[in-house]
Amino acid sequence: MSHGIENVKEQMSLACKEAGRSESDVELIAVSKRFEADTIMPVLELGHRLFGENRVQEAQEKWPSLRVQYAGIELHLIGPLQSNKAGDAVALFDVIHTVDREKIARVLKKEIDKQGKQIELLIQVNTGQEPQKAGIDPLETKEFTHFCRDELGLQIAGLMCIPPVDEEAALHFALLKKIADELGLKKTSMGMSADFNTAIALGATCIRVGSAIFGVRQT
Ligand SMILES: *Cc1c(COP(=O)(O)O)cnc(C)c1O
Repeated sequence: MSHGIENVKEQMSLACKEAGRSESDVELIAVSKRFEADTIMPVLELGHRLFGENRVQEAQEKWPSLRVQYAGIELHLIGPLQSNKAGDAVALFDVIHTVDREKIARVLKKEIDKQGKQIELLIQVNTGQEPQKAGIDPLETKEFTHFCRDELGLQIAGLMCIPPVDEEAALHFALLKKIADELGLKKTSMGMSADFNTAIALGATCIRVGSAIFGVRQT
């Protein structure tokens, strides 16, 4: 039986073909949150190197030892970031998808300079304008992007979103892509197990897939 990641890659490949996009334009982030090293290792053995975690502390417990065993791992933070964890996050992660407020942008800038480490940053956009959800309001994204770039001198690679659970994801993916295009940002991080095909059709450059690769997560 083939591993979940092989099925996901096959579907990605089809979705790219249908959308007339090159497969090399879409990155697959295997979201390994709440899975142990034992479950992650088969995916590393298959040669995959891009992984996503949503909590700094959990990632600190799992990834340093996996990095000793496997070269070339690229770690993405896809969950909310507290300022007091920013230093740890900059030290551990290669990409942070969840820059969503001035305070965290300032702290990240300070840590990036202090550690002299190049990391890639994406701004999380609350496309559904949900009060309980992280992310910058779509209407404030332009101003916030300029703040990060021009005032702080941060390199912003793109935008990320998590659509509301009870709405058509396609509308949110299309909105994120539109804002990214308007701001001249190349990357869009959107699409999860249930909807990554749609995200690819709408221009995602980065999909974040957990359960379709690793199975059902323990809660
Ligand atoms: C958990 C998570 C995912 C992956 O979700 P699946 O439905 O398991 O694919 C993607 N993005 C974020 C931000 C997540 O927290």
